[in-house]
Amino acid sequence: QSPKLTRIGLAGLAVMGQNLALNIAEKGFPISVYNRTTSKVDETIERAKAEGNLPVFGFHDPESFVQSIQKPRVIIMLVKAGAPVDQTIKTLSAYMEKGDCIIDGGNEWYENTERREKAMTELGLLYLGMGVSGGEEGARNGPSLMPGGSFEAYKYIEDIVLKVAAQVPDSGPCVTYIGKGGSGNFVKMIHNGIEYGDMQLIAEAYDVLKSVGKLSNEELKNVFSEWNRGELQSFLIEITADIFGIKDDKGDGYLVDKVLDKTGMKGTGKWTVQQAAELSVAAPTIEASLDSRFLSGLKEERTEAAKVFKSGGFGDILDDQVVDKERLIDDVRQALYASKICSYAQGMNLIRAKSIEKGWDLKLGELARIWKGGCIIRAIFLDRIKKAYDRNSDLANLLVDPEFAKEIIDRQSAWRRVVCLAINSGISTPGMSASLAYYDTYRRERLPANLVQAQRDYFGAHTLISISHLPPWYRLFSSPG
Ligand code: NAP
Repeated sequence: QSPKLTRIGLAGLAVMGQNLALNIAEKGFPISVYNRTTSKVDETIERAKAEGNLPVFGFHDPESFVQSIQKPRVIIMLVKAGAPVDQTIKTLSAYMEKGDCIIDGGNEWYENTERREKAMTELGLLYLGMGVSGGEEGARNGPSLMPGGSFEAYKYIEDIVLKVAAQVPDSGPCVTYIGKGGSGNFVKMIHNGIEYGDMQLIAEAYDVLKSVGKLSNEELKNVFSEWNRGELQSFLIEITADIFGIKDDKGDGYLVDKVLDKTGMKGTGKWTVQQAAELSVAAPTIEASLDSRFLSGLKEERTEAAKVFKSGGFGDILDDQVVDKERLIDDVRQALYASKICSYAQGMNLIRAKSIEKGWDLKLGELARIWKGGCIIRAIFLDRIKKAYDRNSDLANLLVDPEFAKEIIDRQSAWRRVVCLAINSGISTPGMSASLAYYDTYRRERLPANLVQAQRDYFGAHTLISISHLPPWYRLFSSPG
């Protein structure tokens, strides 16, 4: 039976919206739901009944949907990012009143959120852009939530999100008010960029173990399961171990060997890399993971290239190698961990740079805390990141935190062995190599950048001042033209 008024509304009942609505209802908040295509409303109501008569109330028209919510009204939208968000805001805001609030839970470009927040403020409405991570399972049972925008709006929903978010023992709910403007969407975008890096690094570990170490799927499953009991413990390592164990139910062998080696993407990784360039922040591991997805998409070209370069062969190199399996497994574990530290350092630096540019005052340790549960990158490792920022909130780079620095130094021999072995075998490890190069570049007091600068001085008048102390013949060459 319908209550007089519900506590909150949710519009957009595809995978994410439907599951988040059920989660909210299960936590004791009666919720109104609406979707442009009304069959999804009925589907959600059926699920709510089947999953324990949850207090979910469906509406086929936007006006009665909006009016079914108690004031000040709060509506979460989970529709496709971009124009559908604008269209949904237009539809809903027509029936909303001053002081009501709209929350976009999609993977939206942060500037769109800032534009909309401004427009909503003019109408007297509050606005939040809230990153939601954890996919379908997270939305249903506890996601990591990254709300940014109006603090007043956050206060309206704080009691709800604190219960709906994933709960991590000793760390609390995986939600916090991120900051002003589009900061919630920006942080979610970087979370996804880091996710690209994690997935690529894991894929490279798999490639080296399979192609060089000749590990079977059963062995890979055992290795990843073992890794998931140590410092690499994480959702992605856990599901990777599971994937290696899945048999192909339509034929012989394992499913992983039948999956086409071509990776899709939705765009947040590309945005992350674009932002890295905009902010002049080096993010080579995340960039390498994006490039790897681009190259994976060229399946037909790669098949042709493999024919062209067949005589250059790498099978021969691989065949000639005698590999100590146990040592290789341990080396790859260490290489993966060290590479991961570099990737997170890059992601955190991107957030820090943007926070400074926008005056968001983001708390990096707090972000690591809310990523510890619910989201795709959840990992025991995030606790170490949180502690690093607790030790020093102004840390210039995660790499120079004393604990991470020690961990990297301890692992660097193994890391180098893996990258060298892969290079000599013709097995590309773009993420691990990029991480290693990042570390080796960052820790060098003097780089060959002096030569690049000298070349610039030579062919143009870029920094005449910096060479003014050099002999006249040098300055002669460095004049323009
Ligand atoms: P989606 O496939 O991104 O979007 C489908 C929803 O958008 C449907 O409710 C659809 O309504 C609605 N929609 C599309 N165009 C519309 C328009 N012009 N006007 C009104 N509604 C429109 O759904 P999703 O996968 O659940 O994702 C929702 C948001 O969460 C997206 O921003 C997505 O990037 C983000 N997200 C997704 C995941 C995931 O694992 N799927 C994880 C995290 C975040 P109709 O049914 O009427 O077509």
